[in-house]
Amino acid sequence: MTASHLSWPFFEDRHRIWAERIGAWAREKLTHVDHGDVDASCRELVRELGRAGLLQVTAPGDRNEKLDVRTLALARETLAAHAGLADFAFAMQGLGAGPISLFGTDEQRGEWLPKTRSGEAIAAFALSEPASGSDVASISTTARCDGSDYVLDGEKTWISNGGIADLYIVFARTGEAPGSRGLSAFIVRGDNPGLRIAERIPVIAPHPLARIRFDDCRVPASALIGRAGEGFKIAMATLDVFRTTVGAAALGFARRALNETLQRAAKRDLFGAPMSDLQMVQGHLADMALEVDAAALLVYRAAWTKDMGAARVTREAAMAKLYATEAAQRVIDTAVQLHGGAGVVSGHPVETLYREIRALRIYEGASDVQKIVIARSVLSEAER
Ligand SMILES: Cc1cc2nc3c(=O)[nH]c(=O)nc-3n(C[C@H](O)[C@H](O)[C@H](O)COP(=O)(O)OP(=O)(O)OC[C@H]3O[C@@H](n4cnc5c(N)ncnc54)[C@H](O)[C@@H]3O)c2cc1C
Repeated sequence: MTASHLSWPFFEDRHRIWAERIGAWAREKLTHVDHGDVDASCRELVRELGRAGLLQVTAPGDRNEKLDVRTLALARETLAAHAGLADFAFAMQGLGAGPISLFGTDEQRGEWLPKTRSGEAIAAFALSEPASGSDVASISTTARCDGSDYVLDGEKTWISNGGIADLYIVFARTGEAPGSRGLSAFIVRGDNPGLRIAERIPVIAPHPLARIRFDDCRVPASALIGRAGEGFKIAMATLDVFRTTVGAAALGFARRALNETLQRAAKRDLFGAPMSDLQMVQGHLADMALEVDAAALLVYRAAWTKDMGAARVTREAAMAKLYATEAAQRVIDTAVQLHGGAGVVSGHPVETLYREIRALRIYEGASDVQKIVIARSVLSEAER
């Protein structure tokens, strides 16, 4: 797969070395990922990634270090190109640990980050609820202060790693103010009494996903991340870092689809000549290559901007996620088309990509929501 984008000025030599390292690992370890038992596969992938030291980058070891978004994005792009489940396992360690690495106390960091970075503990990020997905501020799960504890009641759904996670970052209403200003973030252990997996949710690209209930779920006040009422800010700041990396995963899927199609077009004869001689096929290939490069530019622009010290990259991350996920869907659809019947055979790489890409246009802010974010940003600039 081409790596010419690594020569772009967004990257430093350490990123090129990192891309080579994670690429070599993926080529060796991800030749076959079993989708039969995704719980077992995910646990194994987290363990293997941890053993290889590749999860160290998902949370800074030291409070003074920052998450390097280019490093995360390169990892996700590479892993996604090889196996969606490996990308998922890697990404969730970062997203799940994100609120702790960005806002946690020294005690919280010391207790959890060595474990998420080594693959010893699996992390989950529990924000969405049955009646509160895009509209995060309407969360109804409550956390009531009771002596030196908080007691959580309510329901979360679509929680990745639900059922296998050792820790859940749970966002709940503590009621300091109405709407988004009355939420707080808590660390809840997977085996905490009162936390129950209510339903495992099967999805088109299988990975561990669950609806979770909290009934009288008591946690100590030390489980609170940041201050009470800061939950929305913590969730948004975490997504601000990780949203760009969703675009990077989509980019990896798209790159793989383009690569599979180039190989197919070179090998397959149609009407007495290689398929790649047909100009209409070349037109499709050109469109795919263009979308891949445009997505890469937006993803690494957002990652670089954040790494250069921008406080927020809300607009850049929204553009990267929106464009890269939508473009990847188009690229993969074209790949399926150009593979003919082979493209829809279960287990074929482009058929798998066709299922893998779909959810990325929905989670961590659906495409329509990203458009609203971008529009608000350009409108506010125009008003200045
Ligand atoms: C595979 C998968 C994994 C997930 N993992 C997690 C996780 O680990 N943790 C977690 O907390 N959540 C997770 N989610 C939840 C995800 O973030 C939500 O599904 C998403 O935010 C959308 O919420 P919703 O499903 O309630 O859809 P709704 O909020 O009901 O929105 C439905 C659709 O309406 C449109 N829409 C929404 N708002 C607007 C608007 N303002 N203007 C125009 N159109 C709009 C969009 O097209 C959207 O897709 C996951 C979801 C999936 C599918």
